Amino acid sequence: MFNTSIIQLSRAALKSNFEYLKNYIGGNVKISSVVKGNAYGHGIEPYVKLAQECGINHFSVYSADEALRVKTALKKKNDIMIMGFIDNDELEWAINNKIEFYVFDFDRLEKAIEIAKQTKKRALIHIEVETGMNRTGFGSRRLGKVLEIVKKNSDKLEIIGLCTHYAGAESISNYVRIHNQYEIFNKIYNKFIKEGVKPRIKHTASSAAAMTYPYMQMDMVRVGILQYGFWPSLETFIDHIAKKKIHEDPLKRILEWKSKVMSTKNVKMGEFIGYGNYFLAERNMKVALIPIGYSHGFSRSLSNTGRVLIRGQRVGIVGTVNMNLIIVDVSSIPGVRKGDSVVIIGKQGKNEITVQSFMQMSNQLNYELLSRLPGNIPRIVTD
Ligand SMILES: *Cc1c(COP(=O)(O)O)cnc(C)c1O
Repeated sequence: MFNTSIIQLSRAALKSNFEYLKNYIGGNVKISSVVKGNAYGHGIEPYVKLAQECGINHFSVYSADEALRVKTALKKKNDIMIMGFIDNDELEWAINNKIEFYVFDFDRLEKAIEIAKQTKKRALIHIEVETGMNRTGFGSRRLGKVLEIVKKNSDKLEIIGLCTHYAGAESISNYVRIHNQYEIFNKIYNKFIKEGVKPRIKHTASSAAAMTYPYMQMDMVRVGILQYGFWPSLETFIDHIAKKKIHEDPLKRILEWKSKVMSTKNVKMGEFIGYGNYFLAERNMKVALIPIGYSHGFSRSLSNTGRVLIRGQRVGIVGTVNMNLIIVDVSSIPGVRKGDSVVIIGKQGKNEITVQSFMQMSNQLNYELLSRLPGNIPRIVTD
């Protein structure tokens, strides 16, 4: 695996996160591990194997290509649920392979029934209903027809779930909206039951709702960001530690991103470093070159401001972030040389570069930064 950097995943940290989450959420609620966006940048294949070692056997993805990757990576039995896009052409594959998928329009519902009829296998569906986010989900005026179709085709459909998604449970400022959604969802669920259609499970909560509003956990929670050791928002984190009366983050980051010093150079006072005149050496300096840049997901907006760790010390980027390269000031650290380990995200010695710090300096959400980590950087599991 040739590359200019590696991403390490800590098995111990993930184990600890799942233990914490299982303990908080309780034994009666299933945890679905959300691994869309290449497992939030952690790498679907290594990540789902680790999660399965931690006792997870339900995975949620956005689309059929991701479902195929999860299925191929795992040997032991597991359930896979597609929450977003599945092309009509891909439905047959999903139904044949017992992949669960969301249904939120009549076209998909009817196609699924048609294929189930042909293949003589039932489609495993989750009916997503609109409760106020106005994204996907059947609106209230459509539910009568949905129920009618579902009842007529009960031999071709297995209603695994009834579900919805909250429009921002990570912020208290959305409380009224979220709570309305919760109430609308319960009304719809009761309507289904009254009509004799009983979904096997109901689920609405992602990480934020699962932590902040435990009554929204229902039968299953779709946990994304938390399992990787990050909080959906600062608010969610503060709310949680206040509730639990703890002072430290109970979750551990499992990902570290590392590279190496490619070469070093001494630069005289008065010289510019890198492209153009973004950085002027105001004294004699020693700089180190690191072979990662914006093509590797290291945002160009970190020019002259980003930091990495070398020999346990924080060092700053000088000049612009290049496509495949950054230059850092190592003048104050004696002995830096080619081959020295560089931490871009993670710990070295007593210092740590957090994903949070990227949020502050480059205005990227942790979700965004993680999921944009390029898929071709090797992911390596450590204990
Ligand atoms: C992404 C997603 C989740 C997981 O969200 P987190 O905030 O990462 O826990 C859950 N449900 C749906 C429908 C999603 O799209």
